Amino acid sequence: MLAAQLRPSPLLGQRQKPEPPAANGAPPAKLPELPFTELDIAALRENAPQAPPRPAAAAKPRSAGAGKKGSSRALTELDMMVLRGKDQVPTIQWPQKNSFIEVAWDQLMDSGADIYSHVRRGIKELPTTKAFDKLVGIGSTLRLQADKPVVLLLGSGWGAHSIMKVIDVDQYEVVCVSPRNHFLFTPMLPSTAVGTVEFRSLLEPVRVANPFVDYFEASCDKIDLDNKVAYCTSKNAYKDGRLPKFEVPCRFLLPVKMHTTLLEWDDDILIVSVGEQPATFGTPGVAENCFFMKEIPDSVGLRQRIQNQFELAALPGTSEEDMKTALHFVVVGGGPTGVEFAGTLSDFLREDLKKKYPELMPYVRVTLLNSAQTILTQFDARMQQHAIENFKRVGVEVRTGMRVTGVTQDTITLRDGEEIKYGLCVWSAGNAPRPLVQQLAAQIPEQAQYQPGEKPSKLAVDPFLRVIGARDVLAIGDCSLMVGDRLPATAQVAGQQGAYVAHLINRGFLPLQGGMDQPPPCKPVSTSELMDNMRDATMGDDEGQAVIYYKKPFNFLNLGALAYLGGDSALTEINLPFTNIKLSGQLAYLVWKSVYITKQVSFRNRVLILFDWVKAQVFGRDLSNF
Ligand code: FAD
Ligand code: MG
Repeated sequence: MLAAQLRPSPLLGQRQKPEPPAANGAPPAKLPELPFTELDIAALRENAPQAPPRPAAAAKPRSAGAGKKGSSRALTELDMMVLRGKDQVPTIQWPQKNSFIEVAWDQLMDSGADIYSHVRRGIKELPTTKAFDKLVGIGSTLRLQADKPVVLLLGSGWGAHSIMKVIDVDQYEVVCVSPRNHFLFTPMLPSTAVGTVEFRSLLEPVRVANPFVDYFEASCDKIDLDNKVAYCTSKNAYKDGRLPKFEVPCRFLLPVKMHTTLLEWDDDILIVSVGEQPATFGTPGVAENCFFMKEIPDSVGLRQRIQNQFELAALPGTSEEDMKTALHFVVVGGGPTGVEFAGTLSDFLREDLKKKYPELMPYVRVTLLNSAQTILTQFDARMQQHAIENFKRVGVEVRTGMRVTGVTQDTITLRDGEEIKYGLCVWSAGNAPRPLVQQLAAQIPEQAQYQPGEKPSKLAVDPFLRVIGARDVLAIGDCSLMVGDRLPATAQVAGQQGAYVAHLINRGFLPLQGGMDQPPPCKPVSTSELMDNMRDATMGDDEGQAVIYYKKPFNFLNLGALAYLGGDSALTEINLPFTNIKLSGQLAYLVWKSVYITKQVSFRNRVLILFDWVKAQVFGRDLSNF
């Protein structure tokens, strides 16, 4: 009998525009999935002494009190009844910042559930059909045919990998599109550029991370939100040069099967986790002449070039001038990546190259250029000073307040006109949006108000990580910007957001239901939940659909920050519930090593890295060049 009342939303499959609030403040007549209107919420917030952050407050930094429990008041049942009369009772809690301990506990509980699903996946047989078998020709294009809701996941970095590990592949057809067929443990990328750790020790292929995810090695070039299609181009071409193109519709091709429960209610979901790309800030010559530090090929190229420079300088007849130029290594950018690379490079020079090329050492220089007046701005002044002093000790020259205005084949020009001859330049001066993110944000009018510049740069998301203005799209990691709580663009954030989104989806997220001013609606999964919600939902509207609301917003658990400085010294800041532990020097380096070894995504990677460390210690880093 229940099933008969639970029909799919009439709005299912259509992009639903927000309903204008009725003039008299009454709820709109035919929106069963909107238990109260935006007007109601606005009125409630005006009455609430400490209302939750409003979208307009996005750009403002969070106040010191924010983040503590109770800093924003949730709507109580009483509020709702006063405002709307006693006939409508759905109690919807608005996001409330939880304390460190609460968030940690929550994440621990989630991890318990994740372990169970990992084990289950481990003993499950692999599917005999892969996504390619499900691609059928429609007109001139290939389209995906699925009998489960599709989760289209763009990217295979920190955010996407975390989703793949947690998402329920029994419930969803998970399709991952990324030009990179592996996850990369970015924090240790600088170590690979000098051979302390081997490249493959930091990677996990998508097909290993979750063999039940359908993976395509391709880039998504464009998303058509209205028709829910992602246009993708393969990374690899056929022999005759044709580059395969395909479309992944984020919509069922087969009619939705009606079961006796709500389980077939869903629509499909798009998750954008494409990160960012290195920013050149339009500086001429950077793209052509500098190395970036973002992906494995960057690191492979760097390792080769460092070696080339030494072999070049060691050739007979090389003038002193040429030697000095060839062996001048410049790093632009004083953030963690630039600093870690400069430190790691200095280790390589002092510990390995010095032994093999002692005659060249007087000509070797490492310079770190930063446009700001200091380096590592996420650490406090004392730790920044420690980093600068450590660089003096290991032979890295730090020059702050230096803005690079141009780079040619052998010269870096600074704003004051100074010209620096160099042999190798690593550019690590910040990130810029990917064109796909700009293209997507430009399609959603609501996004405009959250963009700092004229052009869209990030996808603004609400505290539940839904892209504002598009309820069937979620965005996580570096390409997203959480409204009301500006989070750093780090692996820590992306990884936690990935796990959060996967839990939300596993819970039965109903993407096209509900309004942006409510927590995400989910389908009830147990009979008691169903009964409870039937009662609530039908109170105000006898067309009512049973939905429950995922009231837990994303809470970032900031565990701290780490940076390796070279010479067995590091900075670490560990956040604990009541205090922060700040360490610098060798002890901090030990913490750095322990954290990174435990944070590896697989046992295999942990073992490989431990072997690499021992190998580098005992035999030195390899100098072969190929
Ligand atoms: P990414 O991890 O960048 O993943 C993006 C994915 O999207 C990639 O797989 C990419 O191939 C794919 N992609 C790109 N374009 C498309 C497209 N058009 N279609 C489909 N897929 C696409 N953070 C820390 O917290 N601690 C650190 O110590 C630290 N060190 C770092 C060191 C380095 C060298 C670098 C580069 C970053 C470091 N970071 C660190 C930052 C951290 O790596 C990022 O914050 C994190 O990777 C963000 O995750 P993401 O999933 O948003 O994006
Ligand atoms: Mg990602």
